[in-house]
Amino acid sequence: MYERDRELIVQFGLRILRSNHVSGTSGNISLRVSQDMIAITPSGVPYDELSAKDIPIIDLEGHLVEGNLKPSVEHQLHCLIYKTFQDIHAVIHTHSIYSTVLSILHKPLPAINETLLMIGESIPVSEYANAGSSQLADYVVSCMKKSKAVIMANHGLVCAAKTLQEAFDMCETVERGAQVYVTALSTGLPIHLIDEKCAKEAIEFLSNNYGQRR
Ligand SMILES: [Zn+2]
Repeated sequence: MYERDRELIVQFGLRILRSNHVSGTSGNISLRVSQDMIAITPSGVPYDELSAKDIPIIDLEGHLVEGNLKPSVEHQLHCLIYKTFQDIHAVIHTHSIYSTVLSILHKPLPAINETLLMIGESIPVSEYANAGSSQLADYVVSCMKKSKAVIMANHGLVCAAKTLQEAFDMCETVERGAQVYVTALSTGLPIHLIDEKCAKEAIEFLSNNYGQRR
């Protein structure tokens, strides 16, 4: 069952691999397939060796419902995000380089451009907890109340959205923003942010006008 959803996970696994957001078997991806079940990447299988049948289906308590492979070690994090936010249907966790640089500096990414503003005022850094722990899930979910993209301290990035495409686009936006920000910081010169009034106007304008509307 859920062949199409499992296939989507495989496709986006290849996309995060080929866009350098992850290497080897790191990172993980999930998709809500029903109110209380998700499809999630299995633990420790290279993205370019995955096929749809390898994608486990689990319930939000982490129990295997379908499939033969063990789900990602970060499944607790994914499950807690879906339990907490009913409108979230897709989660992507990456080790994107510049986001990870900010994660070790424990430095949030301010909305340095208008694309980032559409995600939030700033991308927060969650407190450190070990990978795979329920504490990590708690810390990230607590930050997600403000921003659906969160930098995980000394670890990487996690983006939650309505679709995998949207979550992937968020990873791209945050990582590109992080690259610009880290490069700007490395000059040692002052950083200028968009002032609050302009930021509010930009959000309002882009929410109403950006993209193709019918
Ligand atoms: Zn990770």
